[in-house]
Amino acid sequence: MVSRLLDELKRSFFPHHCFLCNEVLHPHQRLCKECADKAPYILPPICERCGRSKDECHCGKHRRAFARCISPFYHKGVAQGGIYTLKSEGFAVTVAGFATEMAEVVRREYGGIPFDYVTAVPLHKRELLDRGFNQAEKLGQALAQRMGISYATVLTKITVTAPQKELTAVERSGNLLGVFDVCGEVAGKTILLVDDVITTGATLDECAKMLKIFGAEEVYAVTAAAACLSNEDE
Ligand SMILES: [Zn+2]
Ligand SMILES: [Zn+2]
Repeated sequence: MVSRLLDELKRSFFPHHCFLCNEVLHPHQRLCKECADKAPYILPPICERCGRSKDECHCGKHRRAFARCISPFYHKGVAQGGIYTLKSEGFAVTVAGFATEMAEVVRREYGGIPFDYVTAVPLHKRELLDRGFNQAEKLGQALAQRMGISYATVLTKITVTAPQKELTAVERSGNLLGVFDVCGEVAGKTILLVDDVITTGATLDECAKMLKIFGAEEVYAVTAAAACLSNEDE
């Protein structure tokens, strides 16, 4: 707690930080030199389904309820550090940095799609109490602001689940059955669904499935990072 307060104090004196590693920066920089050199950007051409480059794609012929998913980064190296900070601290600079990168890939890949609003993968109210905030919601709101579209809360998580990373792929999909419910206006809507990291895509799939059941026109997904086949620890 004390270290967190000291950190907050330090941040108010040195407000410019690298959004991935938290290093103090000059006001005009967004990333420190090291992160700029090492950031694991996902570069086109990418898989039309999972958003990874062709050699990292392992989505196979798997049909998902969402049309596509895209991400600016792989979940490794300095981006993995940034995701950890996003989840544990939720610093405004971390959220803003990732949201700006996400907005860029949304414009590049989803340009012209008439999204009605942005929404995010929800947390259960008990998980929200434990963590204090929903990092996916923070990303979604910051992304909506950058895209000039509205943000809507239309999903709710009705069951607490075992952390996905502790389960096998088969368990992951079964683990999510009946976990999410719809709590907003989704019929006929084209929705941009946000999460922090895509691994197998089971969570996004389950959310999109519920949105579709309630009549959503189409669901597109965007995450801050995509787990690599060789680095599946989230
Ligand atoms: Zn950095
Ligand atoms: Zn793929």
